[in-house]
Amino acid sequence: MPRPISATIHLDALRHNLATASARAQAHKRWAVVKANAYGHGIERAFEGLRAADGFALLDLAEAERVRALGWRGPILLLEGCFELRDLELCSRLKLWHAVHCEEQIDMLAAHKTDAPHTVVLKMNSGMNRLGFKPQHYRAAYARLDALPQVEEIVLATHFSDADGPRGIAHQMAAFNAATEGLSGERSVANSAGTLIWAAGDDAESQAVRADWVRIGIALYGSAPDAPAHSAADWGLKPTMSLRSRIIGTQDLQPGDTVGYGSSFTATEPMRIGIVACGYADGYPRHCPTGTPVLIAGQRCKTVGRVSMDMLAVDITQQPNSAIGSEAVLWGQSAEHPGATLPIDEVAQSGGTIAYELMCALAARVPTHAAAD
Ligand SMILES: *Cc1c(COP(=O)(O)O)cnc(C)c1O
Repeated sequence: MPRPISATIHLDALRHNLATASARAQAHKRWAVVKANAYGHGIERAFEGLRAADGFALLDLAEAERVRALGWRGPILLLEGCFELRDLELCSRLKLWHAVHCEEQIDMLAAHKTDAPHTVVLKMNSGMNRLGFKPQHYRAAYARLDALPQVEEIVLATHFSDADGPRGIAHQMAAFNAATEGLSGERSVANSAGTLIWAAGDDAESQAVRADWVRIGIALYGSAPDAPAHSAADWGLKPTMSLRSRIIGTQDLQPGDTVGYGSSFTATEPMRIGIVACGYADGYPRHCPTGTPVLIAGQRCKTVGRVSMDMLAVDITQQPNSAIGSEAVLWGQSAEHPGATLPIDEVAQSGGTIAYELMCALAARVPTHAAAD
């Protein structure tokens, strides 16, 4: 028998989350962001649940090829654009849209031979200071692209640094709106947080955030972009990834007994622990301290001691019916106890990280399959 750990990808939850986030954006066009192997869900599986999207956005040329291989004929966007001239040949062949964020990428495009002019997404650095042209250089970049025979359409875009936090997006929207005034082309500014938090109103500001395209990532995968201020359930989002395993051993502890490497946990009273077949080599964060929630047989329990490579320990003192073979849900939905759910955002919070990192870190050794629900 294989180790009892597995991950399940819930296709219906992906569909539901796309529809829920789309409703906030009032059905403007939606990029489903499927970079990083669809946030760890697997491109092919995620595609199945996200077919209703208007386009797929990702970073990796190999992932773009996989989406085309699935039969998708609509737009595919390379969010970081091309890294070398050869990449542009693949863009022409696969009809990929690609970001243009620096002069070097415009130089490459000018040197590219193609009969099929490209749609490019001209990226503005409106304050995040990662990729993109500063507002004062944006028009010149636009004019350069506009003059190239290799370019057919220019989409105007920027990315928010604080759509999920107290600083908000007003400063970036002001910079973007001022620098793009009068330029023609579709626009795209909002990520998940921008879409859920800032794009839902009927006012002009919300409309400008919806623009022509929203770019939805994490919300598709059932995590609240502004956790812990809101939960996924607050936004009407459902878990799309369930990481489940089982108890493979139990121990009865006396006061003074310790658990795991470094003896970081010491029992202060008699207790019973279950050893779950899941560790950091499966992608479970080693940083999760004692007290991180786990569902055992549908009931909330807490980890004790350090997470090791292949195992972690859970306090099951209050679960007398739990034994070897009991289901452990590390995050997501229980398969055996309908309705029992552990939001991935709570586990991430406990480990001092965000759900994005947990999903992306799901290890290749964990057998993963799609489920219809
Ligand atoms: C990853 C990414 C997104 C999606 O972000 P979420 O927070 O997951 O919604 C949108 N736009 C760009 C440019 C990205 O790189």
